[in-house]
Amino acid sequence: MSNAALNVLGFKPQVINKSSTEMSDILSALDRSNAVIEFKMDGTIITANANFLGAVGYTLDEVKGKHHSLFVDPKEKDSAAYAAFWEKLNQGVYQAAEFRRFGKGGKEIWIEASYKETDTARIAAENAKEARGEFLANMSHELRTPMNGIIGLSGILAEMNLGGERQNLAEAVNSSARNLLILLNDILDFSKIEAGELTIESIPFDLHKVVRQIESLQSPMASQKGLVMQCHIDDHVPRGVVGDPTRLQQVLNNLVSNAIKFTEHGSVTIRLGGHENAQGQFEVRIAVEDTGIGVPKDKQAQVFEKFQQADASTSRKYGGTGLGLAITKNIVRLMDGVIAIDSEEGKGTTMTVTFTAAIAQIEDEQDKTDILKTITLNTDAAVLIVDDHPINLLFMRNMMTRMGFNRCEEVSSGRQAIDLCHSKHYDIIIMDCQMPDMDGFETAAHIRELQNGKDRSVIIAATADAMKGAAEKCLTAGMDAYISKPIEKDKLCAILHRYIPGNGEQGARDIFNHDHLYEFTQGDPEMEKSIIAMFVDNLKNDIAALDKSFQAKDYQEWDSWVHKIYGACSHVGAAAMADICDRAQSLTDGQEGEIPVIHAKIMAEYQRIMDFVPDDMGVEPQTRAATGAG
Ligand code: ADP
Repeated sequence: MSNAALNVLGFKPQVINKSSTEMSDILSALDRSNAVIEFKMDGTIITANANFLGAVGYTLDEVKGKHHSLFVDPKEKDSAAYAAFWEKLNQGVYQAAEFRRFGKGGKEIWIEASYKETDTARIAAENAKEARGEFLANMSHELRTPMNGIIGLSGILAEMNLGGERQNLAEAVNSSARNLLILLNDILDFSKIEAGELTIESIPFDLHKVVRQIESLQSPMASQKGLVMQCHIDDHVPRGVVGDPTRLQQVLNNLVSNAIKFTEHGSVTIRLGGHENAQGQFEVRIAVEDTGIGVPKDKQAQVFEKFQQADASTSRKYGGTGLGLAITKNIVRLMDGVIAIDSEEGKGTTMTVTFTAAIAQIEDEQDKTDILKTITLNTDAAVLIVDDHPINLLFMRNMMTRMGFNRCEEVSSGRQAIDLCHSKHYDIIIMDCQMPDMDGFETAAHIRELQNGKDRSVIIAATADAMKGAAEKCLTAGMDAYISKPIEKDKLCAILHRYIPGNGEQGARDIFNHDHLYEFTQGDPEMEKSIIAMFVDNLKNDIAALDKSFQAKDYQEWDSWVHKIYGACSHVGAAAMADICDRAQSLTDGQEGEIPVIHAKIMAEYQRIMDFVPDDMGVEPQTRAATGAG
């Protein structure tokens, strides 16, 4: 910004006169902290306040438009010290010292002053940035909230198997809404990058898996277009590296979807390679090659600029906004990496991303999607949904019900939520953050106070605020986890799974608690096998009897079988089943309505045990011997 008027200097002197008693009298009458003069960076005085003018003995008209050197001894104007004073100011260096200056009539004044560059252009830019950040957070909320409703509800419609034209319409609404959300996210991402709000995580992750996931995510798209999709991973590339898997995925997703979009025939290939450097880190190199239309040489640099497409007809023919590669380039830059294009018109394009990553040890974890498939959530948990928006409530209730939760309640304000928490315990509270009157942060803090560390609910913040800092804010308010809207079922499922005890992977291990069994077996695998076999054999009979009493609605009988099963399960450490039976036993008279739900849970857990136990078990050892099995 070359407008000098915007580069003004402020000076807030505590003015003291060291030589003139007359001046010191004047000065003592001043509000010393409020004597200010402002001048342009070329020295031209713009204005001064009454306190300052009183100190120097000039009127405003006498100083306005004059040079700052008006207050400097004419002999000192060309001095090195005065030049240095200006140079420092120009560099934005804050100067606080005593300066010898001269008032009207050549009266000497010592001014203890602090000068600083009050770069209004910079301040204005900072304010604008802040305002923009706020605007974005609001906009993201305002737009994502209805998007949440549209995507969620049209998704439910599409899952209803409406058939025919209606089905097509529901699916079209859903897919258009998803596209709109992608666009919205792009714009938000880009704005975040511009505002310096986009951060890159450093966590150990499975690099091979990220690349493979992109392949499996995008290959349906490729095969729809008749393209061959390939993925090559060099053997020596470590699986575990430190970085930001989500952002890397975003980068690769964008490159691969462009490759598919701009290729009509042939193939799209992802190559993961690289080498270890002298510091023991890995120089990762990921190339996405296609055999598509290519980018002309003179357009190659500009495709990385925002809103730039190689050809004006691109958006007509292929859609898109030209934001994808600008975001990609910025993310790669934040990863301290480089993205390069190598392309020939009509032949194809190779986009190569390189970055350095520390090598990490990662656990040989089960594929997350597999875990999600095997997750069994504790669907008996009491759930409270708090959201001021009726569509969101409808959507959340639907999602939770479809996940199997059968004890969901909902309220539309923070106050109502607190009221309910006074009288009832909820295992899970899904809390909208932005609500009028009392927002989610405040509500959560109140609930935490109320619970005072006991019977702590798991509070999951749901927020449309995609800006940095939202997560911290949620945690500060005492919430446990954070999910951004529109809420995706898999993400919510993964969070619930993490927080509701005795489920999921944990649950799988909980089928039999080996520590518990150890007490019987002292680690003898044969012994363990035969104990489990015996247990399973008995369980079959008990479950059959339990089910029979349930079908006959003989709940007293049912109860006594529950009791028996509980005992057996506790003995061998069949923890999950013991838990369910324990809950069943604690049902009171008025709670008979809950029996069908718990019965279903018992039957499901029984099935899980049977699936878990190897085929050669579950029969009495003698029988096994007799049939020659084992
Ligand atoms: P969009 O795809 O939304 O137009 P991008 O920023 O992702 O925006 O891409 C910018 C432009 O770069 C595209 O419009 C296209 O002209 C060109 N481009 C990107 N990837 C490829 C590719 N693999 N082959 C040919 N052209 C590409």
